[in-house]
Amino acid sequence: MTITQYECQACGWSYPPQSDIQSDTQLDTQPLAFADLPSSFSCPLCGAGKTEFVPVQATDSSDQHLSMKTAADDIVIIGAGLAGWAVVDALRAQDDIVGITLVTADSGARYHKPMLSVAFSQNKTAKDLMRASGEDASDKANITLLSHTTVHFIDSHNKVIKTDKGDVAYANLVLAMGATPAIPPCFSDLPEQEIWHINHIDSFHNIQQALSNTDVSTDSKHIAVIGAGMVGTEIAEDLTKAGHQVTLLDTNDTPLAMMLPSIVTDIIKEALEAQGIEFLGGSRVDAVERTPKGGYQLTITCCDSGKQQVITVDNILISTGLKVDPRLPNTAGINTDNALGIEVDEGSLQTQVPHIYAIGDCMSIGGIACRYVAPLRAQAATIAAHILGQQQPHYIHQAYIHKPPMIRLKNKSISISATGTPRADESHGQWRVVSDTQSETSQDMLLEQVTDAGEVVATLTVKQPL
Ligand SMILES: Cc1cc2nc3c(=O)[nH]c(=O)nc-3n(C[C@H](O)[C@H](O)[C@H](O)COP(=O)(O)OP(=O)(O)OC[C@H]3O[C@@H](n4cnc5c(N)ncnc54)[C@H](O)[C@@H]3O)c2cc1C
Repeated sequence: MTITQYECQACGWSYPPQSDIQSDTQLDTQPLAFADLPSSFSCPLCGAGKTEFVPVQATDSSDQHLSMKTAADDIVIIGAGLAGWAVVDALRAQDDIVGITLVTADSGARYHKPMLSVAFSQNKTAKDLMRASGEDASDKANITLLSHTTVHFIDSHNKVIKTDKGDVAYANLVLAMGATPAIPPCFSDLPEQEIWHINHIDSFHNIQQALSNTDVSTDSKHIAVIGAGMVGTEIAEDLTKAGHQVTLLDTNDTPLAMMLPSIVTDIIKEALEAQGIEFLGGSRVDAVERTPKGGYQLTITCCDSGKQQVITVDNILISTGLKVDPRLPNTAGINTDNALGIEVDEGSLQTQVPHIYAIGDCMSIGGIACRYVAPLRAQAATIAAHILGQQQPHYIHQAYIHKPPMIRLKNKSISISATGTPRADESHGQWRVVSDTQSETSQDMLLEQVTDAGEVVATLTVKQPL
C-alpha cells in the first residue's frame, strides 16, 4: 500500500510520522489523511502552517520495490545523517538490488536532527528521538551498514576508501559526512567533552544525561549559550523552558543579526528576554577558566567599548556555526573550503572528481552552503538518478536546480519565517515593511528585501504573540 506523506518545507517533519506508517498494519485506526486535517493544522515541530507542507511518496514495508536489475557496482555512502539516509531512500526507490554500503562513524540510527533544539523542554531522551536503530533501518533498506567506522582516506584512483576497520571498494561514492561545530579558539584549552554543542544525537544524549541529574526546582543550571544564530536562539529558549538559567551571548547586538533586519532582530531579542533569557549582545568571550566548584568563569569583552566583565556559569554550549574538515575530501584531491565545504556541480551534485558526489551539510553550490533539510530529498534523487543512469541509459537524469528553502525559527515566543535569501546586509537589497497589523492576539509584520533592480530576494513574516 502506498501512503502519501506530507513534508514540512521548513523543518522536514513529515505527516503522518514515519512510526505511524510503519505500525499502521497493527493499528485499528489509520492516521487521518492529510487532506482531512483541519486547515488550522500546523507542524508540531516548527509551527509552519498546513499550506507549507508538500506531498512526498512514502512506502510501507508491504510495498514491492521496483526491480530495475541494474548492473551498477557498489555505491558507498559516507555518513548516516539525514543526507546519507536520503540517498539510501532515493536509490532504493529506483533500484532494489544495487549494492549499497553505508559507512558511518556513529551508530547509523535514523533521527530527525531539527528535533534536537526543542527536545529538552519536552523531556525527550535520545532514544525517544530515534526513528529506527541503524540495524533495523539498514535491514529494512537491504543495505550493508558499517557503523562506528571512520573513513580516513579516499583513494580515488583505485576507487577504495580506507577506514579504521579496513578498505571498502566503491564504484560510486557519496560524501554525506556533515559539518562539525566551529569552536572559537578561546575554548580550545578545555577538553572537547566539556564544551557542549548540539549537532548530533550523541552530543544531545550527553547533555540530556548531564541535565537529567538536575532537579530544576532546587538546582537549575546556569548555561552560557555562545552564538545567537538560529540554533543558538532555539536552544536558549528550549533550555529556559526546561527550567535552566540561560545567558545567550553574541558578538552582534541582536540575535540572528547577520540574516534579518534590525527592526525584526530587536523584536526577537525582546521576545527572548521576556522568556527570562539574559542576552549579552555585542559581546565576545575572550577567556575561559574552570572554577573550583566545577563551573566556568567567562571573561567577556564588550566589542564596542572594550570593557570587560566576568560571568560564572555551570556549563557552556557553543553554537557558533559549522565547518567542514577538509582532510578527508583532500585525500581524493577534492577542493574543500573550511567554511563552505565541498563545491559540487549544481546539476549532478558531483564533485570535481568523477564518481564522487556530495550532499548535505558538507557541500556547497556556487559558493553557498545550504544546511537545511528540505532540499535533501531532491538532491538525493538527483544523485541516485545520476549514479543509476550511468548504467541505465533509459534513466532520465533531471538536473538539480537549487532553490533556497523556507526558513523557520522553531521558537515558541515568536514566530519568524522567511523565504528566499534574507540577509541583514542592505547592499543585498533594501528591507521594507509591507504590512504591520495588530490583532487581539498578535502583532503581525510582513517584510520584503528588494534589490535596486526591484527584485524581491526575500520575504519575512513575523508574528509576535501579545
Ligand atoms: C539543533 C539543530 C536544529 C536544526 N533545525 C533545522 C530546521 O528546523 N530546519 C532545517 O531545515 N534544518 C535544520 N537544521 C539543519 C539540518 O538538521 C542539517 O542540515 C542536516 O541534518 C544535516 O544532515 P547531514 O546528513 O548532512 O549531516 P550530519 O547529520 O552531521 O551527518 C553526518 C554523518 O557523517 C558521519 N561522518 C562524518 N565524518 C565521517 C567519517 N570520516 N567517516 C565516517 N562517517 C563520518 C557522521 O557520523 C554522521 O553520521 C538543524 C540543525 C541542528 C544542529
